[in-house]
Amino acid sequence: MGTQSTFNVDLQSAKSLADAALAEMVKYGVPPTPPNYCVWYNYVAKAIAALTRDIDERIALQKGFGWQANQELFERYFGTDVETAAIRKTGSELNQTVGKVLLRLDAAGQDAAAFGETLVQVHGSLKAVPVVEGSRVQAVVHRLSGATNDMVKRNRDLETELRKSTTEINSLQDRLEQARREAFTDALTGIGNRRCFDLALIEHSERAAAGELELCLLLIDIDHFKRFNDNYGHRIGDQVLKVVGGQMKQMSRGSDIAARYGGEEFALLLVGAPMEIAMRRADQLREALANNYLRNKATGDLYGQVTVSIGVAKYRMTDNVETFVGRADAALYEAKGAGRNRVIAEAA
Ligand code: GH3
Ligand code: MG
Ligand code: MG
Repeated sequence: MGTQSTFNVDLQSAKSLADAALAEMVKYGVPPTPPNYCVWYNYVAKAIAALTRDIDERIALQKGFGWQANQELFERYFGTDVETAAIRKTGSELNQTVGKVLLRLDAAGQDAAAFGETLVQVHGSLKAVPVVEGSRVQAVVHRLSGATNDMVKRNRDLETELRKSTTEINSLQDRLEQARREAFTDALTGIGNRRCFDLALIEHSERAAAGELELCLLLIDIDHFKRFNDNYGHRIGDQVLKVVGGQMKQMSRGSDIAARYGGEEFALLLVGAPMEIAMRRADQLREALANNYLRNKATGDLYGQVTVSIGVAKYRMTDNVETFVGRADAALYEAKGAGRNRVIAEAA
């Protein structure tokens, strides 16, 4: 999911880009570390639209470039997911190569086997020829067929080895894929984590800003969750978080991004959905949770109703990621003020 930039510039323009990057970094007090340099080189080269927008915005809002901001910028655009993708690509290339070798070996093995077969047949028919010289020819053919058999066996051994390597590569790839999935998953609820949400938001907001798709955001916050924790303990609280995540997952469609935004807040990004649909989906979620009275499985004790408040916003072409999330957050805040267990749309 990462962003990758490629450069194909001559030495002179590369040098002026490098100078410009360093000048900007000095101007904004960004320490000249390699990751920071990578970010700013891409910025002055305007290589990644979202990165350019992110930095321009920070500059316009005079947010500054502290250690954390720098770290986040690098992670967001050049972080480990990009590395993982590179490793995966290498793995699959390696796999293809092994595959090709195996095919060739297969063909060689078949040829050798066919050749051996021919020799055995020739050997057999020579036995039937009662000529003096025949015995010497027979001995030669016999040795040849023995050597061929050895070759066939060696081929088979090599093939077995290669097949084993292929299996190992495949399992390595599976483990990488698994690690990649985990890096984007919230361990408690099994839905996306904040990182997953942030990246999806960047990706889709670009298209929404270009007017290519409708994008709606539901920010969901559990009502009086602190009280619930205080009454029943953190572990039961965690179960509630799982219930909410599970409900979101169950109600999600293919293009939705359901994520735990942090703590007891969740986010649902509806890709391609207009406001009316987003509001309907939000209310379905709210209602499903409110009607799901939770019980202690062991004792049967009723925990009661767990409700959520939801703020809904739709991406506007003038938006950036922060203003978009900000409006959903403001709507959520209103929903809390209006008595909780309700859905409120952003202000017009
Ligand atoms: P409101 O209706 O206004 O949202 O009230 P609230 O109590 O839900 O909100 P508040 O922000 O005061 O408290 C949120 C609570 O969520 C505090 C914290 O203990 C709890 N919480 C956050 N993360 C977790 C978690 O991972 N597990 C558990 N069990 N509780 C968590
Ligand atoms: Mg909260
Ligand atoms: Mg809450």
